[in-house]
Amino acid sequence: MSVFCVVDDKHVPVFRIMWIAVTPHFCGEEDCVREGYYEVRLEQGESVWANAKERNHVLEQIELWQGIDPIGEEEEEEEGEGEAGEW
Ligand SMILES: [Zn+2]
Repeated sequence: MSVFCVVDDKHVPVFRIMWIAVTPHFCGEEDCVREGYYEVRLEQGESVWANAKERNHVLEQIELWQGIDPIGEEEEEEEGEGEAGEW
């Protein structure tokens, strides 16, 4: 997997995400361009804005990154030091 997920046309490293809004943004401003988007807060108080699809993707990526594997397969044992296949 990648440590990046694409939000608002940006590659965002999942480990920089602090939180993700549960409900879409609504502030009532007539010219608001973020209405219906989900705020994704990053470190340093920055935010990016995800549509519903992106938000679901971000949540999935974070779960993967945290090692929450929905299938439950674990293949950690095969990790050795370098490739020893060539002889
Ligand atoms: Zn707004």
